[in-house]
Amino acid sequence: NPASLVGVMMNLGEMVTATQSVPDDTLRMLADEMNFVLEIVSPEEEDRELLESFDIEFGEDEGGEEALVSRPPVVTVMGHVDHGKTRLLDAIRKTNVVAGEAGGITQHIGAYQVGAEVNGEDRRITFIDTPGHEAFTAMRARGAKSTDIAILVVAANDGVMPQTIEALNHAKAADVPIVVAVNKIDVEGADPVKVRGQLTEFGLVAEEYGGDTMFVDISAKQGLNIEALLEAVVLTADASLDLRANPNQDAQGIAIESHLDRGRGAVSTVLVQRGTLRIGDTMVVGDAYGRVRAMLDDNGNNVQEAGPATPVLVLGLTNVPGAGDNFLVVDEDRTARQIAEKRAARERNANFARKGVRFSLENLDEALKAGLVQELNLIIKGDASGSVEALESSLLQLDVGEEVDIRVLHRGVGAVTESDIDLATGSDAIVIGFNVRAAGRAAQMAEREGVDVRYYSVIYQAIEEIEAALKGMLKPEY
Ligand code: GDP
Repeated sequence: NPASLVGVMMNLGEMVTATQSVPDDTLRMLADEMNFVLEIVSPEEEDRELLESFDIEFGEDEGGEEALVSRPPVVTVMGHVDHGKTRLLDAIRKTNVVAGEAGGITQHIGAYQVGAEVNGEDRRITFIDTPGHEAFTAMRARGAKSTDIAILVVAANDGVMPQTIEALNHAKAADVPIVVAVNKIDVEGADPVKVRGQLTEFGLVAEEYGGDTMFVDISAKQGLNIEALLEAVVLTADASLDLRANPNQDAQGIAIESHLDRGRGAVSTVLVQRGTLRIGDTMVVGDAYGRVRAMLDDNGNNVQEAGPATPVLVLGLTNVPGAGDNFLVVDEDRTARQIAEKRAARERNANFARKGVRFSLENLDEALKAGLVQELNLIIKGDASGSVEALESSLLQLDVGEEVDIRVLHRGVGAVTESDIDLATGSDAIVIGFNVRAAGRAAQMAEREGVDVRYYSVIYQAIEEIEAALKGMLKPEY
């Protein structure tokens, strides 16, 4: 039980509380100490196993080498606040050099695709339209590889700043090549050469200094050198990445952002990573699922299909998935529903586990001994004010020694309610019901939150049991 684990941890020199999360290393140490075999399963592994049980593999292109076709790079813009990430993303959108796309109303769907002419060839680049590395990190933390290349924006008048370094470390950790956009060269005092010098210290050496990182001096405000930057992105992709995917398979990818739209229901921008997504496909996105009712591109146009590295807004999901959730197309609606439901159940369990196990009368004594609690918080509900008061005063008179205080946080006449459980959850209290039961969903809630609710119909039984618990004499019930 939690209190004894806390005791063991304490002997090992680690001070923890029973409701605290601990790192994997601490768990390993605890398992060693107690001669347990410990297996730590990441959420990604768990999900892979879930999909495997449906005979689905996520993340691999089918059909081997011959099936692969080159695809555009997916790019994220990172850098210090105010260095011009948002402005750059806007400028790139406006520079969209592929003609014939005018007419549509540009929509911010969380990602967009632009064209670039590189060595006489028309190339495409997909941008994730949420600046900053929060989104990038959040997705990466969930095991989703969303980005092929990072553009690191550094304002030439400001130079390398803390978040510049943070951003470049994130990109490095994810093994994502970096193109440096030295921005604001229109500003007086801009010193692009200094930026190059500063970044050398962090392992980003400009090509012109014999390194392998491309630096492009730009002005996002004036739209200066944006095309050169796009070219650098394509060249960097060509030089260091093999970006290919199989367009002829069931689509898979990740959700970039989603929200509930008043008229359209759950809408989600997904980035297709392999395969082709089509209207009518049955898809699972995180714990949402549904048939693709319609798809819109970043210009607001309806599209029938979306291939690798294409972002599209999808309509038709049951609920709103999270950023970084993976998506996949499956053959049957039933399979989609089952996967989504299993994921939702897993999420609920994880939430439950995060909340931790609370104190109950059974582990109270150990918690006291471990120094985890100095007081026993009680909530008393009863059928009549007389009995509630009698119970309360008897409990407060219990001789429980110096180490512990009994505190009655709340008392009242009536059933145990959800609000009582709420209070107990927030303050690690035990709930006593005297000749009353739990009302409505209070029992379920108590179970979910791990709140100990005790029912009595004889006062002295209640007193005895709590006294025993305080003295560590209470026998666990199985
Ligand atoms: P973010 O926080 O990195 O997204 O930075 P923003 O894109 O919001 O830009 C911060 C400020 O710098 C805004 O006032 C921009 O108009 C300005 N800015 C961005 N790029 C340039 C540029 O190339 N030249 C000049 N002079 N100002 C710029």
